[in-house]
Amino acid sequence: MLEQPYEYTARELVEPDWHRLPGFAGVTDEEWRSAQWQRAHCVKNVRQLRGVYGDLLDEAFYADVEADQAGRATMSLLLPPQMLNTMVPDARPSTAAMLADPVRRYMLPVASDRLPGDDASHPYAARDSLHEHEMWAVEGLTHRYPTKVLAELLSTCPQYCGHCTRMDLVGNSTPAVPKLKFELKPVDRQGAMLQYLRDTPGVRDVVVSGGDVANLPFKNLEAFVAGLLEIDSIRDIRLASKALMGLPQHWLQPEVVEGMGRLAATARSRGVSLAVHTHVNAAQSVTPLVAEAARALLGVGVRDVRNQGVLLDGVNATAGQLLDLCFALLDGASITPYYFYMCDMIPSAEHWRVSLATAQTLQHDLMGYLPGFATPRIVCDVPYVGKRWVHQVAEYDRERGISYWTKNYRTGIERTDEAALDRRYTYYDPIHTLSPEGRAWWAAHRSPQLVPAG
Ligand code: SF4
Repeated sequence: MLEQPYEYTARELVEPDWHRLPGFAGVTDEEWRSAQWQRAHCVKNVRQLRGVYGDLLDEAFYADVEADQAGRATMSLLLPPQMLNTMVPDARPSTAAMLADPVRRYMLPVASDRLPGDDASHPYAARDSLHEHEMWAVEGLTHRYPTKVLAELLSTCPQYCGHCTRMDLVGNSTPAVPKLKFELKPVDRQGAMLQYLRDTPGVRDVVVSGGDVANLPFKNLEAFVAGLLEIDSIRDIRLASKALMGLPQHWLQPEVVEGMGRLAATARSRGVSLAVHTHVNAAQSVTPLVAEAARALLGVGVRDVRNQGVLLDGVNATAGQLLDLCFALLDGASITPYYFYMCDMIPSAEHWRVSLATAQTLQHDLMGYLPGFATPRIVCDVPYVGKRWVHQVAEYDRERGISYWTKNYRTGIERTDEAALDRRYTYYDPIHTLSPEGRAWWAAHRSPQLVPAG
């Protein structure tokens, strides 16, 4: 018998032993399970990182992190112990193992990860690469698709991901990226969002995001979602929280579980689907605590917990890595794999991005292993278009890595634009993945004023 390209084996989830890390050697189970303890012991700088790993890691590694933070980093450091503990999960980490680790590669970027010089950023990379701010109906409410909106309730998260697509707004400023700030007070912003949704009955689906809703005091989140549930036209509500994986302790707090139970009961009585969407990129991040948090939400009546990962080179861009992740989510934690997004064209992200051709191959290679409802679609979020399945491309110049896309609806800023549906919209492969001819073409056409700072 010949082997399958992917051999499925059911795997038990494992909580890595945090006592192997010098800074967590004396931490009790009770402390580890406490959301407050986790938040108070997040790593926000190299000094604190050294406090966790001590001399397990070389000075050169700490200097590499520091150089990235001072240089190209678009996100500041913020790592809960839970998340750090999933890096090099089955050994005392060495520098080499940390450098190679998939979770480290996107959550704890180092300068030597990035491509050198101009190659670090695509010439068309941009802050707010999806132009969400241009489509704000009211501050923080992106109305891009006809029937759904994205409500950005806050601009912080319990963990910061190096590749964050909302790097323009989310998190603390870095030397490379001074962040935008919301102008309205949260209560006024949320009030304006609810009013817009009351006035716009064509919207039936609200993604409640940020940032990460786990950073809202639960009573504020509950008040906003309760407000949504009073609007008859809203039929789908999705709460976005990477913390379900990065800080599952938050979602396991009794007051949060009870509050989610109240919201789920109201949603059910009104025929509204209330789901939680999380963001897991590597199988090793799915631990028993993550599973416990997901099942606690399902247990109090949340309709589904789904995963939207991001396709990242060096993290999950092989079919085996993606399938391992999907099975860990589905078998181990009852989380439904849903989407993998191609990494957006933000500055200094070229070392993470993969070409459309790679994404298409991965989609092909994922098919047939998972149940259809849990087979994730790999999507490209095309600027001014929105999510397109990677095989929907209208035309693809493989040599120059330029793909052309069409769309079948007008975004919020095109309601009077007659040509919007006839236009073709572009997305770009990372130049370093192109053939020598393609790279030479870009060398001749790279426009310096289009190269973003950072
Ligand atoms: S959790 Fe989401 S919003 Fe927060 S930094 Fe990560 S990708 Fe960005």
